[in-house]
Amino acid sequence: MTPPPSSSCDDPPERVATPHTYYSMTKSLCGTCKRSVDAKIHLREGQVYFHKFCPAHGHQEVLVSTSAEWYLDALSFIAPNTPPKTVKRDVSDRGCPFDCGPCDSHQQKTYLPVIPITSACNLDCPICYTVNKNEDPHRMTKEQLKEILEHLLEDHEELDIINFTGGEPTLHPELLELLEICRDAGIRRLTISTNGLKLKDEEYVKRLAALDARIVLSLDSYEKETDMKLLGANTTKRKLEVLDLLQKHDVCATILPAVAAGLNDKEVPKLFNEMMTRPNVVSLELHTLCFTGQGGVGFDRQSRITIPDLHYWIGVASDGKLTPQDFVPSPLAHPHCYSICYMLMLDDGGYVPFTKLSSRQTLFSLLQDSLYIEPRERLENVFRSIIDELWSDPDRLEESEAVLSTIKRLLREMFPPDEDLDLLTRQKIAERSVKAVYIHSHMDEESFDVARIMKCCVGVPETDGTNIPTCSYNVIYREQDERFADSAMLERMEENRPRRLPSAAQDTTGAPA
Ligand code: SF4
Ligand code: SF4
Repeated sequence: MTPPPSSSCDDPPERVATPHTYYSMTKSLCGTCKRSVDAKIHLREGQVYFHKFCPAHGHQEVLVSTSAEWYLDALSFIAPNTPPKTVKRDVSDRGCPFDCGPCDSHQQKTYLPVIPITSACNLDCPICYTVNKNEDPHRMTKEQLKEILEHLLEDHEELDIINFTGGEPTLHPELLELLEICRDAGIRRLTISTNGLKLKDEEYVKRLAALDARIVLSLDSYEKETDMKLLGANTTKRKLEVLDLLQKHDVCATILPAVAAGLNDKEVPKLFNEMMTRPNVVSLELHTLCFTGQGGVGFDRQSRITIPDLHYWIGVASDGKLTPQDFVPSPLAHPHCYSICYMLMLDDGGYVPFTKLSSRQTLFSLLQDSLYIEPRERLENVFRSIIDELWSDPDRLEESEAVLSTIKRLLREMFPPDEDLDLLTRQKIAERSVKAVYIHSHMDEESFDVARIMKCCVGVPETDGTNIPTCSYNVIYREQDERFADSAMLERMEENRPRRLPSAAQDTTGAPA
């Protein structure tokens, strides 16, 4: 009997190499209808892509990292999970992320509560990744905030940070009272994410300073045309004036640009310099642009940027002094969510990345209880061991002498032998000698990765004790939240959302394209 052709040794079947290497699999969402779909993780030409198939909207591919090396390196950092104590939702057939609240699959409690205290906003940014409502706007009451804090404190021995967002939180007439409530609840880092337009009022800034409030200022571009493309207005001059006022009144600040490839990415060096030269600016938080919300859904996908691209620009900003190896993930989130670099600001005016003083694993472990390094005993021990190592091998670092004198001074001031300073005082001392770059890569429906959202530590808490991870909230839940979404806004978003071909035009076998 003649064997079938495929088993003939003389005529082996021809195998065509795929252009990619299959790495793994995760769950994602269809970029059009947001149904849950499988995503194959492909490595191709040193980059990482999700390849997805939706029965209704066909094959979809999205770039999730321009460096496979970073993608794999980040996964080598492993930290234990700390799940929330309270489960608020049952797991349904639809699965993650449609049972947020949290359900009992969620792996991490909320370390950064993000509270949208108002739906009103005084801008309408083309990159806005949230949904806002100015007519009859939502304004959180003091009682509602207290209820939220009670629920959060059930899950935390102490709450070190809270973030007010919006809309634009400075439009809330009771913002200062809301901050006082948080301060009375023992929260040290009271952060306000703002476009800054209301902060030209010096009396208001003084009152924020008196409360030790921290301003997270969205400063995206120095160029008029780019500012207009990203924010729909020219805001830079005003924001720089606000930065001057914050500096004058010593208000701790973070500069937060949303970075878009080909638009403001080349301005990262200038933004980095802005942080480095202002004593009250403690960090630069770079957000990779994501395509959710009233503006983001329609924004040009060519501007998608990933964490390794921002490592590159930080390298340019620092004249090669900072490299991707100076960054670590946050142990509190999935390793692909945050990339963090700390720098010791030396008394002689220079700076050294923390990873030149100690290992990346040490930096990673210093971040295990909080999104930001806390000036606790663990830090004191790390500083003392750095001193020991530099004493025994001073040639290992060009800046040894300056590092030794800076760290010794910090230890004397933060941990004086005859006094036990409270954490807030130590934090203020540390923040004069330490700066950080945080890269935070929010997800949209196209880049959505269920493995990441299940370990999300950034949540939107509600008065009933529910808590929705921020990327789930931005992609799915906020559009259904009547406090923020009105029908006209939802219609506008639908018009702007990119369309894919309907299923009839697609191959529905699920095979890779
Ligand atoms: S993101 Fe967390 S809470 Fe939401 S469905 Fe997934 S596991 Fe549950
Ligand atoms: S908000 Fe999004 S990017 Fe940030 S930790 Fe949560 S899942 Fe990750």
